[in-house]
Amino acid sequence: MKWNPSRTCLGCRKTRNKEDLIRVVRTSDGGILIDRDQKMGGRGAYLCRDEDCLKRVRKSGALGRSLKIGIPAELFSDLLEEVARDS
Ligand SMILES: [Zn+2]
Repeated sequence: MKWNPSRTCLGCRKTRNKEDLIRVVRTSDGGILIDRDQKMGGRGAYLCRDEDCLKRVRKSGALGRSLKIGIPAELFSDLLEEVARDS
């Protein structure tokens, strides 16, 4: 059996395969970006590729709390775009 690392989505708290989630990372210089390859160093958080989930996280502020940084509105626009592209 293949070992699939799993992570918990900040929006719905469901555990999913890492590759089914979007990773957002806080870089060492205090930036925040979407880590498409899930390989960047830094504090990371995971979100479903799901519009409702992203909106829930935007509303709750869970992402900023998890990464201990203010989340720019553009990041959520980018995430929503990313999810729209996938589906
Ligand atoms: Zn979710």
